[in-house]
Amino acid sequence: MPIRGDSLALYTSREKPLSGRSLDFEQARYVVLGFPYDRTSTYRRGSAMAPTAIREASGNIETFSFRSNVDVEEIAICDVGDLDVVDDLAETLRRLEASVRDVHGAGKIPILIGGEHTLTYGAVRGLGGDVAVVDFDAHLDLRDQYMGSRLSHTTHMRRLAEEIGPERIVEVGTRAVSKGELEYARDTGVHFYSTLEIRRHGAEKISTLIAQRLSKFRKRYITIDMDVLDPAYAPGVGNPEGDGLEIGALIDILTMLAGAGLAGLDLVEVCPGYDTGITAAQAVKVIFEALAAAEGRGVEADMA
Ligand code: MN
Ligand code: MN
Repeated sequence: MPIRGDSLALYTSREKPLSGRSLDFEQARYVVLGFPYDRTSTYRRGSAMAPTAIREASGNIETFSFRSNVDVEEIAICDVGDLDVVDDLAETLRRLEASVRDVHGAGKIPILIGGEHTLTYGAVRGLGGDVAVVDFDAHLDLRDQYMGSRLSHTTHMRRLAEEIGPERIVEVGTRAVSKGELEYARDTGVHFYSTLEIRRHGAEKISTLIAQRLSKFRKRYITIDMDVLDPAYAPGVGNPEGDGLEIGALIDILTMLAGAGLAGLDLVEVCPGYDTGITAAQAVKVIFEALAAAEGRGVEADMA
């Protein structure tokens, strides 16, 4: 019998769960975990409010995926609510890691809604070994430190590369890097695909290349920093950066990768205080299409 770990007692359930409906933990295949934390954010804060804003928006969006032929309403989802976060990042990430370990250990797929991007570090640690990470992001987040901090939303992918191995990380939608990050990526083999390459070669070709690169690893974790999108599609993010992906390209690549071996997924860096409502609505669309693709596992097959 799957055990609901003690770590999930640290979550406060929300009045409005994602997609409006939440099953019991035992019946669910996907477990939604909110991460209302933004204390290391360097520019525009407020992503701590995003789990609530995204759940709110999810109640007003159609649940049927035309792409995957799956209705999200019929997917077995349990929304356990928001993590009880504290000021201290290390302790907050420990709690997140423990809860992801419990969800993964029960044979379920954690779907995390941030909050700031550091959550990915805790989540991936919670999945144990043999995991590869796909990061959709305008930035590489590979700095060694930033403003004196070794763990923040600009350095977390570096810490992750050190922990799981740089060859297990692929970044997608890159267009804002420091010289140091670029050198680190090239020296260690963290692979990235710029928006320019994606536009030139197309979503299908890029997805195939990523899938080939990750095929030797058993588990796949996908993280979506919403600033991967062009600010025209997602104005309400912490660090907006032009020349971004358009929403269709993001969903095309994402759904082709979410079909097989998905062990977990997060969506981060939405800042409701800077949003018109567009970013939260896009976030819901992205999460729904990823869930539908993971459940249907049909998009990849259809494209073959
Ligand atoms: Mn970013
Ligand atoms: Mn990021």
